[in-house]
Amino acid sequence: MTAYDPDNIFAKILRGEIPAYKVYEDDDALAFMDVMPQSDGHTLILPKVPSRNILDADPDVVAKVIKVVQKVAKAAVNAFGADGATVMQFNEAPAGQTVFHLHFHVVPRYLGVPLRPHTGKMADAALLSGHADKLKAALAT
Ligand code: AMP
Repeated sequence: MTAYDPDNIFAKILRGEIPAYKVYEDDDALAFMDVMPQSDGHTLILPKVPSRNILDADPDVVAKVIKVVQKVAKAAVNAFGADGATVMQFNEAPAGQTVFHLHFHVVPRYLGVPLRPHTGKMADAALLSGHADKLKAALAT
């Protein structure tokens, strides 16, 4: 498999070199809003330890991050009044992965509302920071 690239965009976010709408951080994981959300509240959760995806990750790292995925999913459903949540995770480009640092998507789902397609356009900054504030508040309770 291709080696981990330490200059991928999520590695830069983890090092604080580029900004993100962060909602949760602990010793092992970081969560922030997806800037091209497929639904209101779309959040990404990643381990701090580098790996491209689940295929090269240490199982203990996966075990720790999945607990954060669950925490974020529950908080997001509450924060956004969602009717459910889709959890997604892609491994290598043919499977849909575009950023090669292991991450999980939590996508709140609303009755009768299909997922928005990826347009390649960033969502409005005020909208993303409002969503981050809502989710941070729910995660703090
Ligand atoms: P994938 O690798 O297909 O699982 O998805 C990567 C996700 O990262 C996509 O949903 C993008 O919208 C999202 N994304 C890309 N760049 C950033 C960024 N700088 N901050 C937050 N989300 C991002």
